[in-house]
Amino acid sequence: MRAMATNELTDADINRYIETDGSNCPFYASDALYLGAVRGGTGIAFRDITCRSCNKTWREIFYLAEIQYPAREDFARIERPGSVT
Ligand SMILES: [Zn+2]
Repeated sequence: MRAMATNELTDADINRYIETDGSNCPFYASDALYLGAVRGGTGIAFRDITCRSCNKTWREIFYLAEIQYPAREDFARIERPGSVT
């Protein structure tokens, strides 16, 4: 686990967060996260995440990357664009 961090995030911190699908706090590596509601508009959305361990809040930003038709209920089968399967 990383040491208790500063208020700053490096590009490496952010890249690690994205590569691990935001599963852990980018400051303190805790997985006790409160996921806010997704909000947004045309082609872009965001949600605020709060860490229950360090109480920091950051924002995840989502861009429209793909559509699915017909829509299926099995969300786990949606593949990230560019993923190697
Ligand atoms: Zn944290």
